[in-house]
Amino acid sequence: NRQIFLESRPQGEARADNFKLVTSETPPLKDGEVLVRHHYLSLDPYMRGRMNDAKSYAAPQPLGQVMQGGTVGEVVESRSAKFKPGDKVVGMGGWQEYAVVSAEQGGLRKVDTAQVPLSHYLGAVGMPGVTAWYGLTQIIQARQGQTVVVSAASGAVGSAVGVLAKQRGCRAVGIAGGPDKCGYVEKELGFDACVDYKQHADAPSLARALKEACPDGIDGYFENVGGLVMDAVMLRMNAFGRVALCGMIAGYDGKPIPMAYPQLILTNRLLVQGFIVSEHMELWPQALQELGTLVGSGKFRPRESVAQGLESAPEAFLGMLKGRNFGKQVVKLV
Ligand code: NDP
Repeated sequence: NRQIFLESRPQGEARADNFKLVTSETPPLKDGEVLVRHHYLSLDPYMRGRMNDAKSYAAPQPLGQVMQGGTVGEVVESRSAKFKPGDKVVGMGGWQEYAVVSAEQGGLRKVDTAQVPLSHYLGAVGMPGVTAWYGLTQIIQARQGQTVVVSAASGAVGSAVGVLAKQRGCRAVGIAGGPDKCGYVEKELGFDACVDYKQHADAPSLARALKEACPDGIDGYFENVGGLVMDAVMLRMNAFGRVALCGMIAGYDGKPIPMAYPQLILTNRLLVQGFIVSEHMELWPQALQELGTLVGSGKFRPRESVAQGLESAPEAFLGMLKGRNFGKQVVKLV
């Protein structure tokens, strides 16, 4: 079994030598355990935060152990009545080719791949999709006729925000880096508009472009990035607008991301609410139901960046933090 360990904690930017590839034997199964062969690993921005030894909502990733993370794969051996060989499952198996999992602890879920390809259970029909659903429906409370803006719009979370907002009769406007990503957001995901933030050197300039894309102002903002992008959106928020603070990837390597216009929260009476999707497990079934139907029916065709082989995981992960991914970043093992 090949595995990737966290070898050292980053000082500033994360680097490939923070990770180490190791090989070990999988232990024999005990009663209640199953052996899963991973087909895909999920690479997610939150993993960067957990590489630090800092106090956060989740405990740090321990050094000298397998990088934790979401996985999908197939049961190849089972000593549990709940799973049989051949079952397709989603779990938290980590950056390794095989995982021994206790079936009784509820960490493993069977999935149906008849309509939805297996890897999408790590993206649109998985944690990132539910994240989009939660912020849009529970915090922004998007309603027909409103304008909703989302940053990192071509990504795993952002793409689902736009598709779900369109389903609710909103005007959906994305912000993304570069013409290819913006073209995809408008033409393939069906957003009403997408603004390329890389074309703008400062927040007022990006805010002017947003004014064109959002002629009635912005009622709901789904924030994935922070910094200049957030400042620009703040300049266009309508009174009583709602901001779902989902992520601030621009600051994950430790750079400060000051906020230029905090007074606008007051003058526009904005609601700004952060959230962590794993704290709302009771809503996952409802969210996954809607997302599964959208993907299964072909109304939502999520894009993926697929890195090949376990050894490619560190570079793919570092690339994603720099925006080199285009859609949900996964690693294909089988
Ligand atoms: P994405 O697939 O969106 O990939 C990350 C994207 O972020 C990149 O492709 C890039 O897109 C953009 N990006 C990276 N650096 C910058 C930067 N400096 N400035 C602007 N954009 C940048 O990742 P996910 O969909 O998995 O995650 C999106 C966000 O959601 C993250 O912030 C993540 O932490 C957060 N999240 C939060 C959860 C929660 O429970 N609160 C759960 C899951 C995710 P581009 O090229 O367009 O800039």
